[in-house]
Amino acid sequence: MLEKVLIANRGEIALRILRACKELGIKTVAVHSSADRDLMHVRLADESVCIGPASASKSYLNVPAIISATEVTDAVAIHPGYGFLSENADFADQVERSGFIFIGPRAETIRLMGDKVSAINAMKTAGVPTVPGSDGPLDDNAERTLSIAKRIGYPVIIKAAAGGGGRGMRVVHSEAALLKSIYVTQSEAKAAFGNDTVYLEKFLENPRHVEIQVLGDGLGNAIYLGDRDCSMQRRHQKVLEEAPAPDIPDEIRNQVAETCIKACKLMKYRGAGTLEFLYQDKQFYFIEMNTRVQVEHPVTEMVTGIDIVKEQLKIASGIPLSIRQEDVKIKGHAIECRINAEDPVSFMPCPGKINLFHAPGGNGIRVDSHIYSGYTVPPYYDSLIAKLISYGSSRDEALARMQNALDELLIDGIRTNTPLHKDILRDPNFRKGGTNIHYLEHMLNGAHGKNS
Ligand code: ADP
Repeated sequence: MLEKVLIANRGEIALRILRACKELGIKTVAVHSSADRDLMHVRLADESVCIGPASASKSYLNVPAIISATEVTDAVAIHPGYGFLSENADFADQVERSGFIFIGPRAETIRLMGDKVSAINAMKTAGVPTVPGSDGPLDDNAERTLSIAKRIGYPVIIKAAAGGGGRGMRVVHSEAALLKSIYVTQSEAKAAFGNDTVYLEKFLENPRHVEIQVLGDGLGNAIYLGDRDCSMQRRHQKVLEEAPAPDIPDEIRNQVAETCIKACKLMKYRGAGTLEFLYQDKQFYFIEMNTRVQVEHPVTEMVTGIDIVKEQLKIASGIPLSIRQEDVKIKGHAIECRINAEDPVSFMPCPGKINLFHAPGGNGIRVDSHIYSGYTVPPYYDSLIAKLISYGSSRDEALARMQNALDELLIDGIRTNTPLHKDILRDPNFRKGGTNIHYLEHMLNGAHGKNS
């Protein structure tokens, strides 16, 4: 087992990683910005190092500072969490070249999956179903592009190969708008990602977002841990997630998951990963793979009983997967509400001091959070301050427990999106299950959308 791990992240996920390390007897190093001295995991870590000022580009994204903190503390491995450097292949390369273990896939895998065009091609080769599209990047042959779009059928979506975080996408409804939209998306992609490669996909009108969690040990063994539904989104940002995804026939889910596993085995995938799909009319369509632990991983942990972060640490230690596919049993239902420090109506971030925090509890409730009474939420980073997770033997029980938890939750001093979650939990269509990716925005606009 790894002796000492440096946690290159902050907030709830840093605390989550710290807890897993402590359970496995691994020593921990917290690195933090000067604005994050009071973070819970900094207090609890065996050692801590300040790696720079508040600005993330000078601290949590400061590769030389993170590598030298690893050297001076004699840590053997770096856990990148999610966001920040977690999907940066150059960082993974540098970590390994400096003689440390990157807790995640090999740099070449991150690079392959980081480019959506190469990711789609790799998945296709393994038989993973993808969205009908241009089968590769668009070139400057306008005739060819127009005929590809015609074959796919409008509406189409133009996507940047290097896009991420919901950026670098544009929907086109008619041939007249196509070439100009491609030009605009290319320029935006060049400015945002330094890469103007774009491709075309059929735009699915009413899909759900369903994803498959995988674990691979880098030695050719891989398993899947069921699925999650993350369709409750605002501006392509997930708000609430659940596992398993409601109302998906087992044979359809298992069939697509088998193709995911085939893809992971082919690339000798190492670590935790998620294959994201759009699901419409009982069909899965791969859109991208995330090569890291995800925010919503706890719902999978609750229904499988498998600790994904501990598995990441074991895999990074070089231990072959000990869980076999037939050992993975999905039991019950779990829901996660992302609690953000933001105004529930305008969604503007609301950093500031938390005067009083009372965490909900009781049977089937889990709270992953770094906040405490007296903690000040800094304005510099993501507004996620807590994840409320409920588990029940049925979806109805998980819903009832989540409603209780939201009522018990007390965060005084700053505004949070808790009222939004209460509205979602009361919504009759959400309660039925299976609402699509546009539903939350319809709900927020007051025009309650239809189920897909
Ligand atoms: P990112 O890497 O920016 O998250 P994704 O490829 O994962 O981009 O897409 C983000 C979201 O955009 C999806 O969850 C979905 O809401 C929407 N989207 C992406 N591709 C399509 C498509 N072909 N049809 C409809 N919606 C899409």
